[in-house]
Amino acid sequence: MPDEKIIEQFRVSLRGELIQPSDKNYNEDRKVYNGMIDKRPALIAKCVDVADVVTAVNFGRENKMLVSVRGGGHNAGGLGICDDGLVIDLSKIKYVYVDTKSKTVRVGGGNTWGEVDHAAHPFGLAVPAGMISTTGVGGLALGGGVGYLSRKYGLTIDSIIEVEMVLADGSIVTVNKKENPDLYWAIRGGGGNFGIITSFLFKGHPVHTNYGGPTLWHIDKTEQILKWYRDFILSAEEDLYGFFATLTIPGPPFPEELHGKKMCGVVWNYLGNHDKAEDVFKPIRDLKPDVDYVGPIPHPVLNSMFDVFYPAGLQWYWRADFIKDIPDEAVAQHAKYGKELPTPHSTMHMYPINGAAHKIGKNDTPWAYRDANWAQVMVGVDPDPKNNEKITKWTKDYYNAIHPYSAGGVYINFMMDEGQERVKASYKDNYDRLAKIKSKYDPNNLFRVNQNIKPNS
Ligand SMILES: Cc1cc2nc3c(=O)[nH]c(=O)nc-3n(C[C@H](O)[C@H](O)[C@H](O)COP(=O)(O)OP(=O)(O)OC[C@H]3O[C@@H](n4cnc5c(N)ncnc54)[C@H](O)[C@@H]3O)c2cc1C
Repeated sequence: MPDEKIIEQFRVSLRGELIQPSDKNYNEDRKVYNGMIDKRPALIAKCVDVADVVTAVNFGRENKMLVSVRGGGHNAGGLGICDDGLVIDLSKIKYVYVDTKSKTVRVGGGNTWGEVDHAAHPFGLAVPAGMISTTGVGGLALGGGVGYLSRKYGLTIDSIIEVEMVLADGSIVTVNKKENPDLYWAIRGGGGNFGIITSFLFKGHPVHTNYGGPTLWHIDKTEQILKWYRDFILSAEEDLYGFFATLTIPGPPFPEELHGKKMCGVVWNYLGNHDKAEDVFKPIRDLKPDVDYVGPIPHPVLNSMFDVFYPAGLQWYWRADFIKDIPDEAVAQHAKYGKELPTPHSTMHMYPINGAAHKIGKNDTPWAYRDANWAQVMVGVDPDPKNNEKITKWTKDYYNAIHPYSAGGVYINFMMDEGQERVKASYKDNYDRLAKIKSKYDPNNLFRVNQNIKPNS
């Protein structure tokens, strides 16, 4: 730990605040989304601009501190924060500029997706992102990004045009197809391993009011609905997206008689012409869902629909896999563990990643599982830490039962700390190229609080 004088010099050279354990905001500032994570950094630099990020990177490197980078703080394993080190907090670097001429959206390194949706929506544009609007742009976009627009417009990484980033040596670089192309390849899936992104430039896609929402059935129908869904979604037009889930009905706006009931279902997003929507949804409605809340819905509303059920601070335990097929044996396990959901917040989601995401080659970005059809995740979730053992056990048992049917690797943004072999399995033959680029730009592994790619020299 550097001495007081050096810390004081650091404090005065930042425009943002420097938080230490003795500060009254310390406990608030060290919190992340997952309440299970309880880390105590030595310093939190709340950067307000690129100059602050450069100062913080130089300070961390020169003083040999463990450095973590915090975007939205949503990471499952709490990778935005660290014990006894320096947190470079980007949450004050926020702006969203929409350029309607070039149909691009420029976003700060610390924005959340809800802010991007809000700013882009009036212009009829959207950037592919995830299901909860409080998730950070940084972590989600650098790891891949799966969500309601994936089948039509690809992963979030497929819409990154350019970034501005601060490297481990404190230099600032622009990264796009022409400038620093090796970094341009690496950051589209390689996570925060290569530097700190202070600004993203995304392609915006024509999206405004979708036709979407959930159709849900009683949990006893899981086998029937999942068997139907696995075939239906793989041959559905790319305008239609739907992720499969098992869940517990929370409360309003659902009908009272369903409150607390376990159900299975699909959350849909149709991007085609609304005149066609009734026809598109006919085969789904023929299955007589017990809940049908599908209809016209503004894109930012769909993207934030579940926020209210998942506020920050709940206890989360995650396990995940990529999957190509869902054989009948796997369906039977989903039906079993769906009935045994351990708490009302616990859930299983299967996000389709076929369609547009399949059109990019498996070595064109680090995302090696372009041929997988779903990114599947099971999460044990509860407000009360006393239930941690229960939610962890259900998640691990479920995962162990279902993992034999997986494609091998996992979407790195759905991982907790699962070891280096699992990181390698997720990048497959892209790992060595990532390690080479890591050696060039971060040979001493300054940025290692992430799903880490080790420098190979
Ligand atoms: C409730 C919930 C729902 C989710 N839903 C989806 C979903 O639908 N689709 C999906 O794809 N993912 C989803 N995720 C996973 C999400 O993508 C990851 O948790 C992601 O890491 C969150 O990013 P963050 O910036 O909020 O996280 P943080 O915890 O702040 O950071 C995560 C990692 O990214 C790095 N990082 C963050 N910002 C930057 C930056 N600007 N520059 C360099 N490195 C950076 C950090 O160093 C850290 O290693 C969900 C997560 C949660 C908790």
